[in-house]
Amino acid sequence: MELSKTFDPKAAEERWYQRWIELGYFTADPQKPGEAFSIVIPPPNVTGQLHLGHALNVTLQDVIVRVRRMQGRNTLWVPGTDHAGIATQNVVERELGKEKLTRHSLGRAAFEQRVWAWRDAYGGRILHQLRKLGASCDWTREHFTLDPDLSRAVNEVFVRLYRDGLIYRDRRLINWCPRCETALSDLEVEHRETDGQLYYIAYPLTDGSGAITVATTRPETMLGDTAVAVSPDDARFSAMVGKRVRLPLVGREIEVIADAAVDPKFGTGAVKITPAHDFNDFAIGRRHGLAEISVMDTRGRMSAEAGVYRGLSIKECREAVVNDLKAQGLLEKIEPHRHAVGACSRCDTAVEPLLSFQWFVKVAPLAGKAIAAVRNGETRFHPRFWENTYFAWLENVHDWCISRQLWWGHRIPAYRCSRCEHFTIAADRPARCEKCESTELVQEEDVLDTWFSSALWPFSTLGWPNETLDLKKYYPTSLLITGFDIIFFWVARMMMMGLYCLGEVPFRDVYITPLVRDQHGRKMTKSRGNVVDPLVIMDDYGTDAVRFTLAQLAVQGRDLILAQDRLAASKAFANKIWNAARFVMMNLSGAPEPIPAVEVSALDLAERWILDRLSDAIAGVTEAIDAYQFNTAALRLYQFIWHEFCDWYIELAKEPLKAGGERQAAARYVLVRGLDQLLRLLHPFMPFISEEIWQTIRPYIDERDLAPHLAIAKFPQAGNEKLSEEEKVAMSHCIETTEAINSLRSLMGFHPGQRVTATIRPTGAGAEDIAREFAAWMTYAMTMAKAEKLEVLESGAERPRSMVTTVLEWGEVSVKAPDGFDFDKARRALRKKLDDVSTHHEQHLRRLGNPEFQAKAAAEMKEQIEQRAEELGSQRKVLEAQLQLLGGAE
Ligand SMILES: [Zn+2]
Ligand SMILES: [Zn+2]
Repeated sequence: MELSKTFDPKAAEERWYQRWIELGYFTADPQKPGEAFSIVIPPPNVTGQLHLGHALNVTLQDVIVRVRRMQGRNTLWVPGTDHAGIATQNVVERELGKEKLTRHSLGRAAFEQRVWAWRDAYGGRILHQLRKLGASCDWTREHFTLDPDLSRAVNEVFVRLYRDGLIYRDRRLINWCPRCETALSDLEVEHRETDGQLYYIAYPLTDGSGAITVATTRPETMLGDTAVAVSPDDARFSAMVGKRVRLPLVGREIEVIADAAVDPKFGTGAVKITPAHDFNDFAIGRRHGLAEISVMDTRGRMSAEAGVYRGLSIKECREAVVNDLKAQGLLEKIEPHRHAVGACSRCDTAVEPLLSFQWFVKVAPLAGKAIAAVRNGETRFHPRFWENTYFAWLENVHDWCISRQLWWGHRIPAYRCSRCEHFTIAADRPARCEKCESTELVQEEDVLDTWFSSALWPFSTLGWPNETLDLKKYYPTSLLITGFDIIFFWVARMMMMGLYCLGEVPFRDVYITPLVRDQHGRKMTKSRGNVVDPLVIMDDYGTDAVRFTLAQLAVQGRDLILAQDRLAASKAFANKIWNAARFVMMNLSGAPEPIPAVEVSALDLAERWILDRLSDAIAGVTEAIDAYQFNTAALRLYQFIWHEFCDWYIELAKEPLKAGGERQAAARYVLVRGLDQLLRLLHPFMPFISEEIWQTIRPYIDERDLAPHLAIAKFPQAGNEKLSEEEKVAMSHCIETTEAINSLRSLMGFHPGQRVTATIRPTGAGAEDIAREFAAWMTYAMTMAKAEKLEVLESGAERPRSMVTTVLEWGEVSVKAPDGFDFDKARRALRKKLDDVSTHHEQHLRRLGNPEFQAKAAAEMKEQIEQRAEELGSQRKVLEAQLQLLGGAE
């Protein structure tokens, strides 16, 4: 078999992914042996399109899933999608809008059908894209949060929580989106600082003794005022507490009350209280038993309670109220005022607090256990600092409003009795009202917050509430990999629900992925136009290169900066591996058959050295993966493959390969073994190219019960071909000597093929012995540095003339200058170059040190200058070092 000249990523990606699926390699079987390793995918929204965040998240999951599978663990990775209530409903509503239809004109049943049709047509897109990335999910266990079995789990949890008094229905103030016409949870509201105004309005006291002035950012809500409040400690108002004022424009008499929640420093120190339109006022109102008067409807228009203002929009009403107050001389002044305004996270419309009946989960009792489970280490966050974020939220959590006035989602399993109004809660539709036995029951119109079903994902997808084999084998799951932005929405809620329903945490480890930024460190946004589409870069560089880059850049706790040159470097890495494999294949002559292991004692130093490096790489990669340090694992792999295996060992193997006989056999064995093992290590990161190469080398591998494909081959274990300490020192001397000669070669301008004469003058104790004892490494250094002569001098010998010398810790390495080499001229040229670079470097530093530049230049410009200054700085260092080498030479 032979490898083609270049690697064709597209062909390999299609061929192997399909093969692995056909052969069922990713299908888990709970009855098979092996310690379980399970992971549930954060289900992307069914409306989703693969973005870099997904690509990173899925790559890291796939790396660890593939490693565990190859390590023989009983591995399950559950894929699926989230119905994404409000997001999906909005997408379909926008479509309807193009046809001049609304969901209301369509009716609920027809609308739901429309959404299902949309889902069937487009909902699989994102999952298809995950396959393109190489995700080794068990597609036979694909789930959708609205599947019948998952819906059953939702109903079951709802009923249990209700029976335990942890779900209740109440008329309370909630966040409302007037465009989506639904309640929102606190987390679905985005707060933004906005320039607004503060209106000062006089409320006349009914006893004729004057007026009390309140300050408000929302004058239109005064129509719903039911009190004026001051701080109990505020001496300015102590005489007024208990008096009554006449509410302007409305005429209602309301009381002046004292409440500690009032900030005496805000406005005049007196505030209007509108319980139905403000969260603080609502709390104060409930404490004082105030009436709750709602003056707006669910579409953000003024309601009948607003009297003459009925039907106006909020904006129109504000203008009208302000004008009317002015006309009556009650508007004292208007001041500019910056304050936070909440917006719907789905459609950006300003959110209105609205008084309505909703369903809530009492979170505090659930939160306690979720906090404890992380405190006592049952679940660990990586990086650890995210635990603080998790604790801070759970310790201050409010009750969770779980009802949504949407049509797309799990309809709440509550049935209202038309006769007695009582709600009967049941997983399946009950025949009668549990209170009055009436059969006239109507199911609650509202659906549940999307995150309610997502919170059950780690066990609903394993078959809960049935006691399935999957549940028994794979719960708790081993690991969750997700973004920091959904620690509250999702991670914390899964913890609460897992502990509540199963008494055990849903996962042992939580790895929080870094945020992906562009090469300048900026967030990727549509408006900046710097969004990188993973599908496009997968096409350009190959999926393996994209995966390797993402893993290599995933440093725990740091943002991931994705620069295109990193992708190009990963593509070059893939090519390097390909070429190395071609070299190995070309040197395996004869019919393919397993190459038997060669005794360690029959191996040369270089061979034992590369096997030692291989063991070290295996140990390093395995350890890093276990600690979720994907970048460290990728880096070690890169170093081993590129520098140790390709740059060194392949070069050193050329001579014994030519020599024939036992030495040739040994080199072949080590090449095949090295390539086989490095491909196994590489496979989780670059699954396609590794499988493609492995298939050609597979016939030469001598292993009992060898797997037919790399995807299920055994993950390597560190071997015991360790080098002795002396041999290790020898090889490091060899590498240092080679590097020293090579840098001297380039300093003196030798052609790449030109042979040089070099000497080593040992200075450190024992260096001379090592050089003599391991004559082997001297030949390696000569091969690698293209030296025709490498002589070891007596340690007391004089430094040779016409040579340029590098001083190492244990000795000096010198290279003879080419005939007629003009040292003075070389020094002058180097000096000139150094001067140029230094001048340039100083210029950049001055610019960066200039306060005016720092204040005015754009961030991008600053970054460019900083980067250039850094490059010039390191060039300067190199030139200075080179000049020093030439300094004393003649
Ligand atoms: Zn909205
Ligand atoms: Zn009833």
